[in-house]
Amino acid sequence: MRILLTNDDGIHAPGLEVLEAIAREFSDDIWICAPDEEQSGMGHALTLTRPVRLHQHGERRFSVTGTPTDSVTMGMRKVMDGKPDVILSGVNRGANLGDDITYSGTVSAAIEGALAGIRSIALSQVYARAGDADEDTFRAGRAWGKRVVEPLLETPLPSRTLVNVNFPPLAAEDVKGIRAVRQGFHDYARGTVVEGRDPRGFRYYWFGLEAIEHTLDHGTDLEAIDEGFISVTPLQLDLTHHASLGALAERYED
Ligand code: MN
Repeated sequence: MRILLTNDDGIHAPGLEVLEAIAREFSDDIWICAPDEEQSGMGHALTLTRPVRLHQHGERRFSVTGTPTDSVTMGMRKVMDGKPDVILSGVNRGANLGDDITYSGTVSAAIEGALAGIRSIALSQVYARAGDADEDTFRAGRAWGKRVVEPLLETPLPSRTLVNVNFPPLAAEDVKGIRAVRQGFHDYARGTVVEGRDPRGFRYYWFGLEAIEHTLDHGTDLEAIDEGFISVTPLQLDLTHHASLGALAERYED
């Protein structure tokens, strides 16, 4: 099994090491292609207005001066000699839950894989605050990764689907188990916009993502994490709201 790894936190991200350890439980044919620098929040961005450079860091280990999507594209088309069987994206430092996953470089890298017809899984480690991001941040993902990923390598997945996994911010022994759940919804109370002055006196703005409120609907990824479970959510790329389709079509009838 040929596995391509990426991580939107960059080629040197600790979560990528965790992911590599998980992947090596299943295969020795591991390839890595990740952004040079952190690209969190870049979503499904594709670099079009400037060239992308490829850097080699070791055998089957590359970085790209671009986005997570660029990395998957380069991994599939230039780095590997042929397509991977599986793409694993992560383990992201931070949650990718609910309906704000369209911001996520981690999930979007897996979307790029799914678009290419490759089995793709995004993995993220929830943590409480940046200050808590010590060496134990990935303890749940490290301990439970193999158990979570194993069925996802075998279960048939329809085309244009991917799987989104989140690990709760708990010690391995405190994780209650694994739940297959649907995507939840955040209340739209976007984080902070910090305003300040740079050293030359010019105003700047800096977005934060802290403390997004959400309603804990039953059977969602948000609820699973809140209750101490690992969430596993199959995602589809069809964003059509089918229930509205008929009513809209009627509006355009002659
Ligand atoms: Mn990230």
